[in-house]
Amino acid sequence: MQEKNRNTDREERLYRRFAEYAAIPHPSGNTAAASEYCLEAAASAGYRGERDAAGNLLIRVPGTQGRSDRPTVILQGHLDMVAVREEGSERDPAQDPLDLFWEGDRIGARGTSLGGDDGVAVAMCLALLEEKEAPHPPLEILLTADEEIGLLGASALDMSRLQGRLLLNLDSEEEGVFIVGCAGGVRLDISMPVCRTREEMPCLHATLYGGRGGHSGNDIHRGRLNAAVGLSGLLRSVSRAVPLFLCCLDGGEKDNAIPDRASAYFLTPDPEKAIRVFREAAEALCASYREADPSLSFAIGPASGGRDAGAERCADPAGTGRATEDCASDGVGISGGRLALTAEESRRWLDFLSDAPCGVQAMREDFPDIVHTSLNLGILRSGSERMHAVYAIRSASEAGKAELADTLSAAARAIGAEVHRRGEYPAWEYRPDSRLRPLMQRIWRAQTGRPAREEIIHAGLECGIFAARLPGLDCVSLGPALYDIHTARERLSFSSLVRTYDYLLAILAEL
Ligand SMILES: [Zn+2]
Repeated sequence: MQEKNRNTDREERLYRRFAEYAAIPHPSGNTAAASEYCLEAAASAGYRGERDAAGNLLIRVPGTQGRSDRPTVILQGHLDMVAVREEGSERDPAQDPLDLFWEGDRIGARGTSLGGDDGVAVAMCLALLEEKEAPHPPLEILLTADEEIGLLGASALDMSRLQGRLLLNLDSEEEGVFIVGCAGGVRLDISMPVCRTREEMPCLHATLYGGRGGHSGNDIHRGRLNAAVGLSGLLRSVSRAVPLFLCCLDGGEKDNAIPDRASAYFLTPDPEKAIRVFREAAEALCASYREADPSLSFAIGPASGGRDAGAERCADPAGTGRATEDCASDGVGISGGRLALTAEESRRWLDFLSDAPCGVQAMREDFPDIVHTSLNLGILRSGSERMHAVYAIRSASEAGKAELADTLSAAARAIGAEVHRRGEYPAWEYRPDSRLRPLMQRIWRAQTGRPAREEIIHAGLECGIFAARLPGLDCVSLGPALYDIHTARERLSFSSLVRTYDYLLAILAEL
């Protein structure tokens, strides 16, 4: 009976903390009120928390009786959430309290993302502060800011404030799966200066659309077409058959997403032949992607008038009016000729985009199902004086990342382009010797009768930053079952949160 009461209390406490936190808007870039709430929770439990200039929160909790001299454990999650809403939803998760609802065991937020990523970490950490009977070693509860917009809080954190070298990251979303390593990454901004001249020639508009796209880390191995690269290749085929003068070539919205469509305007003295060559090459391309990208389609025709629905939809791949706007400002559609790159510049840019490596470059040897090194051309934009391409490189090793970045940079410089590296984050390399992993596996097996799955992911996690800057760090990432994170369909399994919390307490009791 007593056991039952305690469990009920725990569930009540976890839900209350989760719901109270959801009532305070906490989008990336605006977590001050949310961290104030956490500081108050710490103070009312008798602990002091500190917030740094980047918005990271650190709460120190001494070990319970007889455990004050054990090694410190860092419990870590992030304060911010991806605040998105359904089309037509009146509630703005960046400003309004979330409207929680239950769907059986699952919790959602009406019309918006739930922020279970990473509200579950906040709820577990704050619930833990109120535990009266759970034994644990000294704890450093670390809740970082702005994880979702480039791991900004963790990157800015003064690591000398942390004593712990055992870290439990609470930012995973599959119960029974431990994340034990992740890729590092870097962004490359490539821009080639161009000199546009006015040409009197027929203008064609070509689009490639209907690809599946996806996340440049988690989906890169699925064999889907990068539409920006695909369209560049098609235009190169055309440029080998007829003179081609590129006006613009645009595709992709985010550097970490695979472009699902791309569009281009170009001039040519022989539009009939250009259309014929394009169609032939595009048909072959779509056929070769029939399995991975069954809805992939293309359109080509005169730039003004006579566009079919597909072309119309894809004239503006980002939905921002930018492709059309850029082309308009560059002279597309203006009588008396259009501003275009020279044939030589067009060829150089198309050659570079078609020949540059893209997609999976190597698989891991220790975990053969996991991508080791990859890159994605995420954004392609045309300006009046420069053509731009943004690539995101990911690799399980620092060496793999540096080598690929060097190769791509060299290819870009060879065509006279400038290269800027930014947003670099380190890989979290798998650590063969670990104190945490075997202990966590033993407890997991005792509770469930089966081993937990250990995974290395091809996407960035804050653990990479901690592992790179806290020498000797032993780190595992875990969390309860979350579904469709970063969308308005996000759901949390509450029973999974309760089990994960109980499991966390069991781990802490043995550390
Ligand atoms: Zn997260």
